[in-house]
Amino acid sequence: MLAGINRVGDLEWEIPIGYVPGMRVPGRFFLSEALAETLEEGAVRQVANVATMPGIVKHSLAMPDIHWGYGFPIGGVAAFDMTEGVISPGGVGFDINCGVRLITTPLTRADLAGKRRELIERLFAAIPTGVGAKSSLRISNKDLTRVMVDGARWAVERGFGTEADLARCEAEGAMSGADPDAVSSKARQRGVPQLGTLGAGNHFLEVQAVREILDPAAAETFGLKEGQVCFMVHCGSRGLGHQVATDHLRNLEAALSKYRIHLPDRQLACAPIDSPEGRGYYGGMVCAANYAWANRQVIMHEARNVFAKLFGIEYDEMQPVYDVAHNVAKFERHEIDGRLTEVCVHRKGATRAFGPKTLEIPREYAAVGQPVIIPGSMGTPSYLLCGTTTAMQKTWGSTCHGAGRVLSRSKVKKEVLGRDVREQLAGEGIVVRAHSDAAIAEEAPQAYKPSQEVVRVVHEAGLSAIVARLEPLGVIKG
Ligand code: 5GP
Ligand code: MN
Ligand code: MN
Repeated sequence: MLAGINRVGDLEWEIPIGYVPGMRVPGRFFLSEALAETLEEGAVRQVANVATMPGIVKHSLAMPDIHWGYGFPIGGVAAFDMTEGVISPGGVGFDINCGVRLITTPLTRADLAGKRRELIERLFAAIPTGVGAKSSLRISNKDLTRVMVDGARWAVERGFGTEADLARCEAEGAMSGADPDAVSSKARQRGVPQLGTLGAGNHFLEVQAVREILDPAAAETFGLKEGQVCFMVHCGSRGLGHQVATDHLRNLEAALSKYRIHLPDRQLACAPIDSPEGRGYYGGMVCAANYAWANRQVIMHEARNVFAKLFGIEYDEMQPVYDVAHNVAKFERHEIDGRLTEVCVHRKGATRAFGPKTLEIPREYAAVGQPVIIPGSMGTPSYLLCGTTTAMQKTWGSTCHGAGRVLSRSKVKKEVLGRDVREQLAGEGIVVRAHSDAAIAEEAPQAYKPSQEVVRVVHEAGLSAIVARLEPLGVIKG
């Protein structure tokens, strides 16, 4: 482990106050010795930098998928006091409400025999992917306002899914507090043509099989069976969210001196939660978050239609298990010194993992805790877990969001050829479809930490509990 870091548990490490000047609270992160080998000092410094921000409560936290990000590390979690504290776009990320949705089907692996490639081709044809992917939807600027306020509900009201889908989304697919006036016309222009598109790079739609059930009771509650085929959608708020983040970062940076906020890194630009600048960012961020929920809803709908047609199954036989956000800031009530207190929780490449009997999770899941969806890579397992009481106590009800990158896009492209990755995965029975082999190289499994190890850490540290392991059968990539 890096010098200056203290071990405080089997898988838990502390960055003491003083690691960087101005820290108000210690940093805490969760990691195994094996994962410590890929730990970047820069990312640890980022955890420490976050600890200098006004009003931070208890700890600056990071999950085992930690890696370097803009301002906050990816895998970073921090809660801020509602009066003394701040809100920061760097604590959310540029892809506001990037998130993951998992959907079950009535099919088994055997049902896919001989049809896997065709399934992937049809999904690729139905769902626009790639950097500038344009939607076949023709929405007006007025529609966009409704999308930003109503989120997934907008999509359901337009026929993209059913009412029941909404209950299976974090925040029921729409956070309150959207402020369409906090979204610039440039952000709107980027958002209008992209609703219902997957985007590029790390975003994907993956067909998976349930390979192992580790918690049968929870799996039954979530509707999962061994051998069952599922699909997973990973995407966010596209150009709209990116523009909202860019616009407000600029605005918050300019306001730092007004609020006498001193930061070790300008990428942590922030403003008091209840200031015009802070409220403006929050209102714009909610708009982008709601757009992302509508986006995943539309994509799920298109994929359901593809499955229904190809396999002759009913639309309603495919049900979302849950939809989680992994880039968002939220006002939540947590227990601090024995009292329920509202704080602003930032999760940046981190997944909410609310435990059993918490509010805000679907009633049918109350006894188990919320579903937590952790993608691995196109060649390694993904996992379904559930939230825990320990997460509520230690991490503001949060866990990791993926395996986490170890090689930058440019590095991995130097090390592997996209065609080789595609062929190797094909040899393992995994069909990969993307616009280019270069896009596949950037996302090669070796670009990510081993998902098994990252998930083992969150499971053993108690931050979420493994329910099932899912293995990839085929994937469409942005
Ligand atoms: P991020 O939101 O940070 O871009 O990515 C989330 C996680 O998704 C990554 O840390 C990685 O573990 C996972 N991931 C990236 N590409 C794929 C893919 O094609 N399939 C699966 N199952 N997971 C992926
Ligand atoms: Mn994203
Ligand atoms: Mn993501």
